[in-house]
Amino acid sequence: MIVQVAVSGPFLFALDYRFDALLQFPVVGGRVSVPFRNKTVIGVVMAILTDSVDCDLSKIKPILEVLDTEPLLSDALLTLLKWASHYYHEPIGEVLQAALPKRLRAGEAAEVSGTPAWQLSALGLALTLADLPKNAKHQHALLACFNTAQSQGQTVLSASALSASLDHWRASVKKFVEAGWLTLTQGHCLADGVWGQRPAHCLNPEQQAAVDAVSQRTTLFGAYLLQGVTGSGKTEVYLGMIEQVLAKGQQALVLVPEIGLTPQMVARFEAYLQAPVATLHSGLNDSERHCAWHLVRTGQVKVLLGTRSAVFAPFKHLGICIIDEEHDLSYKQQEGFRYSARDLLVRRAFQEAIPVVLGSATPSLESLHNVAQGRYRHLTLKIRAGNAKMPSIKLLDIRGEKIQEGVSTPLKIAMQQHLTQGGQVLLFLNRRGFAPVLMCHDCGWQASCPSCDANMTLHQTAHTTQGGYLQCHHCGEQQALPPECPSCLSTEFVKVGQGTERLEETIQAWFSDKSVLRIDRDTTRLKGKMAELTGIAERGEADILIGTQMLAKGHHFPNVTLVGLLDIDQGLFSVDYRALERTAQLILQVAGRAGRAKKAGEVLIQTHHPEHPLLITLIKEGYEAFAQKALLERQDAQLPPFKHQILVRAEANLAQDAMAFLQSLKAGLEQVHARSRPEQAHDLQIWGPVSAPMQRRQGRYRFQLLLQSSKRAYLHSVLGELEPYIYKSPLARKVRWSLDVDPQEMV
Ligand code: ADP
Ligand code: ZN
Ligand code: ZN
Repeated sequence: MIVQVAVSGPFLFALDYRFDALLQFPVVGGRVSVPFRNKTVIGVVMAILTDSVDCDLSKIKPILEVLDTEPLLSDALLTLLKWASHYYHEPIGEVLQAALPKRLRAGEAAEVSGTPAWQLSALGLALTLADLPKNAKHQHALLACFNTAQSQGQTVLSASALSASLDHWRASVKKFVEAGWLTLTQGHCLADGVWGQRPAHCLNPEQQAAVDAVSQRTTLFGAYLLQGVTGSGKTEVYLGMIEQVLAKGQQALVLVPEIGLTPQMVARFEAYLQAPVATLHSGLNDSERHCAWHLVRTGQVKVLLGTRSAVFAPFKHLGICIIDEEHDLSYKQQEGFRYSARDLLVRRAFQEAIPVVLGSATPSLESLHNVAQGRYRHLTLKIRAGNAKMPSIKLLDIRGEKIQEGVSTPLKIAMQQHLTQGGQVLLFLNRRGFAPVLMCHDCGWQASCPSCDANMTLHQTAHTTQGGYLQCHHCGEQQALPPECPSCLSTEFVKVGQGTERLEETIQAWFSDKSVLRIDRDTTRLKGKMAELTGIAERGEADILIGTQMLAKGHHFPNVTLVGLLDIDQGLFSVDYRALERTAQLILQVAGRAGRAKKAGEVLIQTHHPEHPLLITLIKEGYEAFAQKALLERQDAQLPPFKHQILVRAEANLAQDAMAFLQSLKAGLEQVHARSRPEQAHDLQIWGPVSAPMQRRQGRYRFQLLLQSSKRAYLHSVLGELEPYIYKSPLARKVRWSLDVDPQEMV
């Protein structure tokens, strides 16, 4: 018997192993351990061939151990993974790496008995803060956390529950256990038990219509684009649909962008459904991830809320797939196995014959194109839920205006007015740090990264001494500030440009009696910080919010009445043809934070290009009109979604190695194309090799080759024919190369 096993490595297919009847029987979708290059590795059985095969069995290595007697991955899931491997030209073993939690890849048992959870002992219940050392603030916080939970009827707290509300709790838990104040119980990875009240409101007619459209056809594949303006209550629509699916005993998978998966969101799901919700995201540790995977696979939990990689989660009986903010770039994996979770989710729903709902206020042009082609059904929510009105959006022409620290006078005046009336103000600037450029005042020298073609950003937070540090936002390299200019020895530097840190400093000085809260990657780096800061913003405890695109996504800040966008101009004229679409989405998403509750909202957009035709369309006529015009431009320029692309990237220490690899690939592709039989051939354009927009990054030279065709299948078949040669090519060994199918960014 020959067993085909997928192991991690650069092979396109599963490898053959022999099965000796001494062991228990392997199963397709289960794990086995096999010898591989003098090592024992764990792989997944993809197929078992029982027909007599014409090969010398003695030359084939045997399976060493069978780890699972039941499949970990169902046939349906395996089919999806094989499809993904084929479509993205990614070795099947690597696809499985992305799909399986680390613990399972390491060979641990698939069953999970529970992850640790703790409970106050009788001694612990009698404990007061005064019994703890005075300055042990983590211990104080831990006790307070248990006492609060206790008062809400919750006695057991799991690791994930503690992590959600506390930093650095593990050491204190250890002390408490040693002192006999806490006892360890076996809980599991779900937030324990009590969820809040189910919201009282009913769905409005638009929302109900959207729910009905999908719920009437849950046994068939159907893709639905739910386009609802910001604040229209898309989440309630998802919940309404999920409720119907749960009532039939089926499960639901919901994908959300990385930073959209907040504890508030989980709580909202649990309260509405009055059921536990499992989560999968990058903040979980290995055992939490394993546990969530297990609970979903066995059907113990019906709803999974997850980020990108949750598209591969195993379900016992999946009934619906939902993806929120479907236009979001975080659904595209940009490293290694470069898949689109959105596209795979649609494929998954198709295979399982269930509905898939793609929600957004600003859908991607691809999805709108799919609607126009009749592939997706369009559901729309045109009004905001509750009594909220859409905000008014205005372009502020700042040509020739006096600009102080990036803020124009009209915006400053508007801020004053809104603050006086008790509203919150949100300022959007998509650049973190203090200033993007540090320049010598005497000779013009600029601090640049030694390993990238990029400037170093100056960071100057209040708590750093010696005036801050320099950081490259592309490779992470950090440096101290230079004491003098390396070029002319002058000690006079100018800080050029505006980052969120600088804006925070300015705004705080202008509005000294108001509290300012900055939310960007730097202030939310620590675990739990994002939830803490958005919580403060949500409760209206900060008057002025300053943030990057992190603030744009999905947050509900009921008291924000004014949103100011400081610098959107660079997105209007970029080399990347998708930049305009992204900018439009960002503008409306940020604008959508204004006026989401009782008070009306106002949005002011500073620009030097108030006559930009598509910008005017967006503001005056809305996203739909913008998207139609943008799609026409794409069609004229023969770009996606009217054409299909694959981007081949190569990087090497020597530029000529990367070029040579891509040139030989191009020659090969041209040959295959020329040899195609006329009835099969389609158009094929090959551009490059050219250097990447940032030619040097982390010390390596980067080049790319872009392939394009109007026929997707043809593009894939030409590349597929060449693929085995790429893996064997000596030129390929000198470079790091990758294939990016349907690339989203040309970087
Ligand atoms: P979106 O994701 O579409 O921007 P949300 O789902 O965040 O909008 O909903 C915005 C707000 O409106 C939330 O506070 C939500 O509870 C509320 N909401 C949603 N549907 C209704 C409804 N039918 N009646 C009253 N309030 C609603
Ligand atoms: Zn100088
Ligand atoms: Zn760098």
